[in-house]
Amino acid sequence: MTDSTGPAKDDLIVIGGAGGFIAGALAKYFHDKGFTRIRAIDKKPLPEWYQRTPGVESLCLDLSDRDNCEQACEGAAEVYNLAADMGGMGFIERFRVECLRSILINTHMIEAAYRAGAQRYFFSSSACAYNTELQKDPQVRALKETDAYPAMAERGYGWEKLLSEMFCEEYWHERGMKTAIARFHNVYGPQGTWDGGREKAPAAICRKVIEAKDSGDDNIEIWGDGHQTRSFMYIDDCTLGIDKIMHCDELIATPINLGSSELVSINTLADMAEEIGGVKLQRNHKLDAPLGVAGRNSDNTMIKRILGWEPDTPLRTGLEKTYHWIETQYNDRKAGKRTVS
Ligand code: NAD
Repeated sequence: MTDSTGPAKDDLIVIGGAGGFIAGALAKYFHDKGFTRIRAIDKKPLPEWYQRTPGVESLCLDLSDRDNCEQACEGAAEVYNLAADMGGMGFIERFRVECLRSILINTHMIEAAYRAGAQRYFFSSSACAYNTELQKDPQVRALKETDAYPAMAERGYGWEKLLSEMFCEEYWHERGMKTAIARFHNVYGPQGTWDGGREKAPAAICRKVIEAKDSGDDNIEIWGDGHQTRSFMYIDDCTLGIDKIMHCDELIATPINLGSSELVSINTLADMAEEIGGVKLQRNHKLDAPLGVAGRNSDNTMIKRILGWEPDTPLRTGLEKTYHWIETQYNDRKAGKRTVS
């Protein structure tokens, strides 16, 4: 493992998209590690942020605007850009224009980071950048980093990620700014979207089990035949992995998978959620729902070789924590309290 020295504890760390799930957790992660100057930014008004860490400077700015990006990055030693208009399959298949427009955020943020003299820049890419032709079988072979090219990314969202990755590569090769690129594979956990249309499969299925229990209706809607496969990474593995990737010189300007390699079908995911909830539900398979690729898994050969580490929280363990957090959110909402989604 070739770790370089990370920032000093009083260096300014800028985090874009921090009103959302992963970047909100990242701000807390760095705060808990003892960093004293963290600037968190999101376009959502502050009361709508999923989590706000006391002691972290929180700004409401639209990062698709160049001037706002300059304001955000001023004085930054490190910039982590996780801001994007995104959601689960239901969102990214329906709102491709919105997904593509995230290119404005990435174009302006990387330039602003460069102009501000930031030492390192992190970009959150996605497994959706991989060639979709390789993901037509639920028993898919795990995707390795070279599988993005020849390119045939997920329409909209995936192509935007691929192009933004290229910006990161060229800002290093042409301009010498150290950039890091992680291709996240489905991230889940507490403090994530669990309702409203942008939620992803683990949160959606937990919520549906909770709703079914609450209403006494023992039916659950599952998108597709449930044989489609995915791997899911717990949020704590994601924040730790971002830190490790960002501070590894061997990985400068090199896209790398950040995901779990525990492949499960959506039916197995539903089994787990039912088991946690202590119910067995009747499944109604919605075959015309947006599904994305048939199968997708993360090949972790490269991350294990370079970092000597991979995301390893078992899905069952992470799902249990997520389920109980969503259950509390659900009950809070019923009681008229403010919740994340
Ligand atoms: P999220 O939707 O919870 O957070 C993204 C945040 O970006 C939101 O709070 C949103 O308001 C903010 N944002 C959008 N446009 C903005 C703008 N113009 N200016 C400022 N803020 C803006 O999503 P997340 O799950 O936390 O994802 C974070 C990053 O990780 C994204 O880049 C996403 O594409 C990537 N990613 C996530 C997953 C996953 O499973 N969650 C998988 C692959 C990649």
